[in-house]
Amino acid sequence: MTARTLFDKVWSVHEVVPETPDTPAVLYIDLHLIHEVTSPQAFSVLKSLGLPVRRPDRTLATMDHSTPTRSEQVFGNVPITVDAAAKQVRQLELNAADFGVELFGLRDARRGIVHVISPELGATQPGLTVVCGDSHTSTHGAFGALAFGIGSTEVGHVLATQCLLQRKPKTFAVNVEGRMPRGVTAKDLILTIIGKVGVSGGTGHVFEYRGSTIRALSMDERMTVCNMSIEAGARAGMIAPDETTFAYLKNKPRAPVPGDWDAAVSRWRGLTTDTGARFDASIDIDATRLEPMITYGTNPGMVVPIGTPIPESAGDAIVDKALRYMGFEGGDAMLGKPVNVVFIGSCTNGRLEDLQAAAQILKGRKVAPGVHLLIVPGSQQIKRDAETAGLAEIFKAAGADWRESGCSMCLGMNGDTVPAGQYSVSTSNRNFEGRQGVGARTLLVSPLTAAASAVYGRISDPREFL
Ligand code: SF4
Repeated sequence: MTARTLFDKVWSVHEVVPETPDTPAVLYIDLHLIHEVTSPQAFSVLKSLGLPVRRPDRTLATMDHSTPTRSEQVFGNVPITVDAAAKQVRQLELNAADFGVELFGLRDARRGIVHVISPELGATQPGLTVVCGDSHTSTHGAFGALAFGIGSTEVGHVLATQCLLQRKPKTFAVNVEGRMPRGVTAKDLILTIIGKVGVSGGTGHVFEYRGSTIRALSMDERMTVCNMSIEAGARAGMIAPDETTFAYLKNKPRAPVPGDWDAAVSRWRGLTTDTGARFDASIDIDATRLEPMITYGTNPGMVVPIGTPIPESAGDAIVDKALRYMGFEGGDAMLGKPVNVVFIGSCTNGRLEDLQAAAQILKGRKVAPGVHLLIVPGSQQIKRDAETAGLAEIFKAAGADWRESGCSMCLGMNGDTVPAGQYSVSTSNRNFEGRQGVGARTLLVSPLTAAASAVYGRISDPREFL
């Protein structure tokens, strides 16, 4: 039998109709995650056609992109201040009720960022196909699922049919070997990969992250890596499930029940790339040489090790424009540049281990005067866990602003924005022009680097604190 990749195995069991030169494949979708921003149009189409949701039992809705993070707007009687956000929240409530879709509403204890809550519940499982109207759906690939973002029109297709038209992507092995040095995190690893592959180097491919470094990562770290696959242009990123995956999922509310658990694990163990399977492309990374990374431009591929000066643009018009927007020049040192805002959160780095890493540096220290440190947990469950573990107290004692969960300043739809011209050191995943607010200047980093920079009020190397 032909040796197959992990991707091939998951794809083949979901292929309802294979692709032809003229038509894409029809792919069955196991889990459809929806949120308030990319679903209203899709539900409107279903309404206008008189169609039901095909599989409400495979559809899960939450609110995250535009929800407020101020407690009084979530649990008090203070109205949501952003009009568009209030309407989206209300519309999702109506649509979920009309179509019989399970919704974690604004005050639900299980609410949070869509890519955080589904793994947390055990709904994301190895071998599933998972889609959502959000690019960072690739996060779920950390479990050996084939997971990718779709557009609003496709959200409608999946709601109506539980299937999706897709061209079969190619495969790309990202081989990472060795132990990451102290102060280097999964975020630094994925920023390094994006820097090497480029923001479109993965286009048309699904990454499989492999090697001893990947095997040693926790599930939170694996999710950070897979989350940003899309920033290298990849359709998805996957990691073969292993004992770490099974231990994470065991006893999660929506994981297989004890009577089904052993059979599920035995099935999941087969979700590995066979020896001798061929990838269409590959790259090798030596993890022992990694350093904390920071972006200097307006896409995640414009990235350098934190102690390395910004490269000269060499006449590249795109880099010139990015440097002008950021107020930087080629040859500038990143270390020591002043910081106005620090954001720790998002579906990339808003999980408990990320908050623990930040707390490690913030414990017993103060945020520098004039710096706004905003810490937003990825879910209400993470918020409760962080409070129980004493992390929230460490953050508040340091002078941080500790909030309710949501996407928040990752994209600033809920009013949590960075003022124009200010520098934001952020653990999120996109540093595009205006992503965190009109004129905002975003520098992507790990939670360690974010916390260190908040303490000094300047871009700082976290290794000095460890
Ligand atoms: S945190 Fe950012 S990237 Fe993640 S789901 Fe929300 S908006 Fe999308």
